[in-house]
Amino acid sequence: MPLPCPMTARPTLARAATWFALATLAAAQQPAPETAADPSASAPTRELLRTLAARPRVAGTRESLHAVEFVARELERAGWRVERERFDVVLSLPRRIAFAIHAAGAGEPLVQRVETWDPDAERPGDIPKFAGWTASGKVRARAVDVGRGLRADYERLAASGVDVRGKIALATFGGAYRGIKVDMAAEHGCAGVLLYSPSDEDGADRGPVWPAGPWKPGHDAQRGSISPMGRAPGDPSTPGWPSTAGCARVPAGEYAMPKLLCLPIGWDDAHAILERIADVEVELEIDAPPALRPIYNVVGTLAARGSAALVVAGSHRDSWVRGAHDSGGGCAALLRAAQILGARAKQGWDQHGELRVCFWDAEEQGLVGSTEHVEAHRADYAARLVAYVNSDANVSGTRFGASGTPGMMRVLRETCASIDSVATPGRSLWDEYTQGGTKSPAFSLPGSGSDFAAFVHHAGLPMLELGFGGGSGGQYHTTFDDFELVDRFLDPGFAAHEKCAEATAALLARLAEQGRAAFDAGEACKELARHARLAGLEKSDGGASWLGEARAERLAAAFDALAAAPPDALLPAAFLRDAGIPGRAWFKNPLWAPGLETGYSSETFPTLRRAARDGEAALERELAALLDTATALQRSTAPPR
Ligand SMILES: [Zn+2]
Repeated sequence: MPLPCPMTARPTLARAATWFALATLAAAQQPAPETAADPSASAPTRELLRTLAARPRVAGTRESLHAVEFVARELERAGWRVERERFDVVLSLPRRIAFAIHAAGAGEPLVQRVETWDPDAERPGDIPKFAGWTASGKVRARAVDVGRGLRADYERLAASGVDVRGKIALATFGGAYRGIKVDMAAEHGCAGVLLYSPSDEDGADRGPVWPAGPWKPGHDAQRGSISPMGRAPGDPSTPGWPSTAGCARVPAGEYAMPKLLCLPIGWDDAHAILERIADVEVELEIDAPPALRPIYNVVGTLAARGSAALVVAGSHRDSWVRGAHDSGGGCAALLRAAQILGARAKQGWDQHGELRVCFWDAEEQGLVGSTEHVEAHRADYAARLVAYVNSDANVSGTRFGASGTPGMMRVLRETCASIDSVATPGRSLWDEYTQGGTKSPAFSLPGSGSDFAAFVHHAGLPMLELGFGGGSGGQYHTTFDDFELVDRFLDPGFAAHEKCAEATAALLARLAEQGRAAFDAGEACKELARHARLAGLEKSDGGASWLGEARAERLAAAFDALAAAPPDALLPAAFLRDAGIPGRAWFKNPLWAPGLETGYSSETFPTLRRAARDGEAALERELAALLDTATALQRSTAPPR
């Protein structure tokens, strides 16, 4: 028999510090928890984050190994079995970056900066502003303002007679994954790409800049990967299989990589170019050779007791610099959740299923650690994973939010109905999420950009994320996303981090206890029916519905029929295509996929969209294939238990 779960009892006001109630468990007869005498016990996540974010954690560097050992030690102390899971992966790290702005034809540069960096030094310092997977080389050319650098921007420029060929595209962040902007610039014949944020988006025009406030100073910029994540995330030399020692690899030069030099720059430099864009040339010289480096996922396991079910939670341990928000906070909350669950296990709690917490490496380079991990464990996860719970930069304020795949809303509701809100005292997190019942909850389908991608799009497994937002600032992937920023501006007092740990522990416990019954197939099928009908309303460029309302209705009806007698199967797993979706072999989920020209957000029914481009007959064939899968699932539906 499991011990009574303190997380299912609504804490009273007298127990407002609910993490304490959790840590002390079924308190009265139990020994005090280890942290009781610790002066930092008022917010254990604060101390975890302070240590974690004390140094940069760039994947593949020697310095990042300190965090590997810290996380491993904390998990071991909390009673988890720990594995340091090594993969040898190709990573792109900078050695030397030179940037200059020249007045056209003149001698001395107006602006010049050279930065060098040694990823193998024990103290390499902060990585320069850098785009992971940029091409290396040298280019000098005039710049052209391409707005956000999306297809519509290039169409607009072409329509007004602007020739972008041979020029360096100056594009703002936002609107799509940054890698798509580089692909788009290459497609339109540009010679390089500079990415920046205007100061009225996240800099001085929004408020006081760091260190006076949380907004971005003019010299700093967002680092980030431009890997072709929409084709295949992870190590580009091992698409679809794990990068273990001695494994087969696609040779360098044969896998798709960005073709252009790309550099993020601060608003000061962007402004200097924009002011006299017709009169200046930009010079870029980048040396960032891709090279094989070891990365380490830290994986903690709490053994199952009599159930084959497995629940996995993860947050990325690596960061571009100190990453206190992204994703130090996610790691601290997950570590704290592991401490809470470890303490319960030590006191005899039977969680039924196996619990696994993963602290991923190299997420920032292109979801590498989690992708290699899922590729290595895909068969086991297909057989027994209940759900993956993702945490990424998920604490930046006190306002509760959640996202996930269809079929996970019920377990979210059950979990959050019994946990107090931070932002609206007296309400539960569920009340807060549904605005007191006035808003009917629905997840949008998860695209990509975080470690859930391999679970959802490669293995077809359910996923949930929860977190606390509402804070703002310009710290994303900058040098000042550090402990002080979180402590002073994002979550002073760490109440949201503590609540995130409490809610994550409660969710993991519930998933492990329920096993695959936690997945609500009826809810998932209803959601997919809704998405089918929405797809039928979408217009293509010609103004007609690309799918056709009648076809959309046939697909929706098939999901409605499944919802009426829910299959004993996980979705999207039951629909997976082993050969992948057209043009994207790694992506195996035909129900939805990351948008090819958006990256982070998703589009529904990618195989139908692709077929629609080949005409009516192809579209009918693809619809029939989806309907066949639905019919087969209906036949296999077990009688109600
Ligand atoms: Zn992140």
